Amino acid sequence: MQDRRMGTKAVQGGYTPGNGEPRQIPIIQSTTFKYDTSEDMGRLFDLEASGYFYTRLQNPTNDYVAAKIAEMEGGAAAMLTSSGQAANFMAMFNICEAGDHIVASSSIYGGTFNLISVTLKKMGIASTFVSPDATEEELSAAFRPNTKLLFGETIANPALTVLDIEKFAKAAHAHGVPLMVDNTFPTPINCNPIKWGADIVTHSTTKYMDGHGACVGGAIVDAGNFDWMAYADKFPGLCTPDESYHGITYAEKFGQQGAFITKCTAQLMRDLGCIQAPQHAFILNLGLESLHVRMPRHVENGQAVAEFLAQQEQVAHVNYPGLAGDKYHALSEKYMPNGGCGVVSFELKGGRAAAELFMKHLKLASIETHVADARTCCLNPATSTHRQMTDEQLAEAGIPAGLVRISCGLEDKQDLIADLAQALAAISK
Ligand SMILES: *Cc1c(COP(=O)(O)O)cnc(C)c1O
Repeated sequence: MQDRRMGTKAVQGGYTPGNGEPRQIPIIQSTTFKYDTSEDMGRLFDLEASGYFYTRLQNPTNDYVAAKIAEMEGGAAAMLTSSGQAANFMAMFNICEAGDHIVASSSIYGGTFNLISVTLKKMGIASTFVSPDATEEELSAAFRPNTKLLFGETIANPALTVLDIEKFAKAAHAHGVPLMVDNTFPTPINCNPIKWGADIVTHSTTKYMDGHGACVGGAIVDAGNFDWMAYADKFPGLCTPDESYHGITYAEKFGQQGAFITKCTAQLMRDLGCIQAPQHAFILNLGLESLHVRMPRHVENGQAVAEFLAQQEQVAHVNYPGLAGDKYHALSEKYMPNGGCGVVSFELKGGRAAAELFMKHLKLASIETHVADARTCCLNPATSTHRQMTDEQLAEAGIPAGLVRISCGLEDKQDLIADLAQALAAISK
């Protein structure tokens, strides 16, 4: 099945019904699973047999959908989590513990930045942030002997910087650690980070994958390429016996392809329990079935809106990697030849007041703390997510007060542009 194309994987991947079985993936609405003998169940607890015993750890509906995402990303194994935050936390904590260190791009989602710089710090995991534009030497200088992973986002939310995945993968591997990439914005339709050397890929499935603003969720995909045993001293959690599983060594028993996800499921999901509900996995799968049809439309609308905004006199500048003049255009062409996503950000010359007035006049684009669904939405960080900051503080953080982020949905681009045009006209009066 290796030669199936992306659309076929999106529609049919992960689940193949047997004779007389349901065509759509079944929602296994059950917390628990029944066994005939204690020996049968014991084999599951010893990880000697694969099967289900409790939905806090694993559920068949989730596993069908995770298998589809693994196929779409070109990975060896995957699992679903309750949110994108949970996915990044679980993926990091699976190989980091107190005393360890993470290197991450500074251009990442605010929630992930807080996760690393505040919460993981409280757990004894230190971090160093590097510019997404860091040279190989600068990247290399950020690593310490206790560094366990390098992290970045393919297209950063909300800065829209593009990660040089090959350069980051090279730096990670030179220091004997995996590269972890959050691929939420391009989705596997527009980029497969594993092809460029990423070892672990994470997603907030809340965004384009679901695509309809219906369910919060996350996913972790393991490429199966990282040789944990070659760096056994760095990764004791994978390469030494787990006493809570009768001394199983994950990297030995499940190999390079299975160790990471098996440990994350059997140990972290058991102890933390942030699993996606099977109902949500079912809804996520409906989104995945049309992802390859929707993403080109999001890109088409994002490109048209970015090109329109770039020509308007009220607009100081536009960030969109699909624009020929964008700082990240060349990287975007390399890693995402079919375009990246539908999110565009732009700065209004009139600052905070202009942004507020502009957004008040929008009729189609609604004001939401969300991106990447079917309906166009927008946000002015200065008056919402970052409203505690002064204009000076905002400028320092690279978020001008007049910055508006617009997530282009699936509507007709002519209508979106007309809506933007009338709101721009209103602020010029
Ligand atoms: C939204 C988002 C997250 C967090 O995901 P949730 O599903 O909201 O927990 C992580 N990374 C990126 C890039 C995101 O856009």
